[in-house]
Amino acid sequence: MPDAARPPRHVLILGGTTEARRLAAALAPEPAGAPEPAPAPECALRVTTSLAGRVAAPRLPAGEVRIGGFGGPEGLARWLREHAVDALIDATHPFADTISHNAALAAATAHVPLLAVRRPGWVPGPGDAWHQVTSLDEAAAALPALGTRIFLTTGRMGLSHFAHLTGLWFLVRSVDAPEPPHPPRMEVLLDRGPFTVEGERALLRAHRIDVLVTKDSGAAATAAKLTAAREAGVPVVVVRRPPVPDGVPVVEEPEAAAEWLRGLFSAAGSH
Ligand code: NAP
Repeated sequence: MPDAARPPRHVLILGGTTEARRLAAALAPEPAGAPEPAPAPECALRVTTSLAGRVAAPRLPAGEVRIGGFGGPEGLARWLREHAVDALIDATHPFADTISHNAALAAATAHVPLLAVRRPGWVPGPGDAWHQVTSLDEAAAALPALGTRIFLTTGRMGLSHFAHLTGLWFLVRSVDAPEPPHPPRMEVLLDRGPFTVEGERALLRAHRIDVLVTKDSGAAATAAKLTAAREAGVPVVVVRRPPVPDGVPVVEEPEAAAEWLRGLFSAAGSH
């Protein structure tokens, strides 16, 4: 039972992912219909999710929400102190590298325990023709040798890395419309997952795609394109993820993060 005398513990979730929404739904005082709620810690919780504000109409998580940058690691550390945050969960996208480093610095400065939630990456299977690269620039450099009709699913923010590829045609899928610079020959498909194998198959066929480019997001909601590419014999350029900052503990699932919080708060409560 929550201890009524103690102020609620404040958890800040750095979000923008399915995992962050699942965690918020499991932890927030009135869970908003999480499909498989994780066991929440037994003390009273105040849950705030932070979103960067990149998407015009974001899917909002349960609990409190704040939107917009903090102003670097110093700004985040200040926010942690001013809002009396007891635990910080970095549940951002595996490729949101800057905010993850900012979180590590800010948590250390403000003496707030930090945990990262990272879904597992994708693993190539039999029949996959993957070209693994470490950056969008490397992905762009690999393309001319692989094909001419490219399905680009790496997000609208990185399109400038492909802008010089004037000889290739791109199908660009993103949540919001991209802005220049971008490749001169492209069609934009505004959509967000989850996607089906059937739908991805139809897209590859309709646009005569001969190369797929993806980040190793590792999300089930967007994995169908890999199956469709394997079936069609389409090579896939996979951008590997940056590592989690040194010293930050990592779990793969929101349920494990809820368990970590439970351990943290019960250990702190026993002092
Ligand atoms: P990023 O490059 O790591 O961060 C750039 C700056 O954006 C940060 O320095 C921070 O600004 C602000 N920021 C990022 N995430 C934030 C958050 N959750 N709350 C408040 N400020 C945040 O980030 P990104 O790759 O642009 O991703 C932005 C957001 O989109 C993240 O929340 C991420 O989970 C989500 N997302 C990213 C991808 C992707 O492929 N990168 C895909 C899907 C969703 P200040 O320094 O001013 O604090």
